[in-house]
Amino acid sequence: MNEKEGDLLPRNDTHRRIIHLDMDAFYASVETRDNPRLAKKALIVGRDPRETNGHGVVTTANYVARKYGVHSAMPTMKALRLIPRDQIVFVTPNFPKYRAVSAEIHQLMHEITDQVQSISLDEAYLDVTENKLGIKSALQLAVRLQTKIRQEIGLNSSFGVTYNKFLAKMGSEYSKPFGRTIILPSEAKGFLAKQEIAQFHGIGPKTQEKLHKMGIYTGGDLQKTPVRTLLKQFNKMGYLMAEHANGIDLSRVVADDERNRKSIGIERTYEPSIFSEQTALTNMRNYCARLEEEMRERGFYANTVVIKVRNLDFVTVTKRRKLSQATNDKNELYASAKDLFVTISSGYLNEGIRLLGVTVTDFSRTDYAQIDLFSGN
Ligand SMILES: [Mg+2]
Repeated sequence: MNEKEGDLLPRNDTHRRIIHLDMDAFYASVETRDNPRLAKKALIVGRDPRETNGHGVVTTANYVARKYGVHSAMPTMKALRLIPRDQIVFVTPNFPKYRAVSAEIHQLMHEITDQVQSISLDEAYLDVTENKLGIKSALQLAVRLQTKIRQEIGLNSSFGVTYNKFLAKMGSEYSKPFGRTIILPSEAKGFLAKQEIAQFHGIGPKTQEKLHKMGIYTGGDLQKTPVRTLLKQFNKMGYLMAEHANGIDLSRVVADDERNRKSIGIERTYEPSIFSEQTALTNMRNYCARLEEEMRERGFYANTVVIKVRNLDFVTVTKRRKLSQATNDKNELYASAKDLFVTISSGYLNEGIRLLGVTVTDFSRTDYAQIDLFSGN
C-alpha cells in the first residue's frame, strides 16, 4: 500500500492490552468433565436424531467428533452418517448448567478486570491495560486465567493476546485447542498476511467468493489491495476489511454492565441560564453528536429520544418521542430533539433555561461477533 492509500486509514492504536478468551468445545467439554467416560467418544451435544424424527442440529462437537468432519450447526442426521455407531454419543444440551459454568469462568475473569465484554457463554474480550492485579504483562494474565480455569473449573480454553479485539480473536482461533497466541504490534501485519481470508473474523462465504474472484486469497493480498478498491466493491465493509488487514481495530471493550445500560443521557446545568433558542439548539446538537459516539462504541441503536428542560423555578419537563426506526445518527437524533424542544421552548425561554438534557433509550443492539460484518447481504 502506498502512503497516500495509508492516509485513508485511521492512525493505529497499539497501546491497549486485550485478551480474547474462548473455551474449547465448551458444551462438549462440560459434559465430558462431568462424565469422563465420554472423553474418548465422538461426543455431540445435541438431541439424538433417532429420537427426534431426524430433526435438530449439532450444538457443539468435541474434538474426536470434529475429526470425522462434524461441526456446530450441522444437522445431527449428517453427524450420524459420518461417525461409526459404536463411537458416537449424543447428549441433550443442558443450558442451565452451561450458564452456571460460564458464570464461574466470568468470576475468574473479574478477578483480573471488570472490563469484560462477553460475546457468548464461552467467549469474552478483556481489556487488561489497567487491571486489578497490577500486572503489566497481558500474556502473564492470560496464562494465569487459562491455568485457573483448568485447575478450578476443569476446562480448557484458548486465548489471543494483543492490542485490539479483532487481532485477539484471530489469535485465539489460531491455535486451538489449549492455544496461547501473542501477537506483538510489530508482528501483526506479518501474522495477518499469512492468514487465509476465510480465517478473517467476519468475512462470510459470499464475500470470500467475491474476494477470490478479485484474486484476493490471504490477508497479504488484502493488504496489497488499494483501500479505494475495497471501498468501491464492499462499501463500509471494504473499509473495515482494509483496517483489519492492516491490524487496525479501534473498537473498544465495552464492559458487560455498561452494555446492559437502559439509557444514555447527557444533561448540563447552565449558569447564566439560556434565553436564546439558538444557543439551546446548538447545545442539543452537540449532545446528539456525543450520544452518537457513545452508541456507536456500544453497538446501540436508540428507538426513543427524550429531552429534559428545567427553568429557573426548578419546573422540569421531559418530552419523549418514539422514532420510526432505531438509529444512532446524530442528525436524526437532533431532528427529533429539536422537534420536541420547539413544542415547549417558548415558555421556558422567556423565563430562562437552567438545565437542558437529551437522553436516548429503548435500545436495539448489534453484536460485533454475531453479525457477519462482511457478508453484504
Ligand atoms: Mg469456544
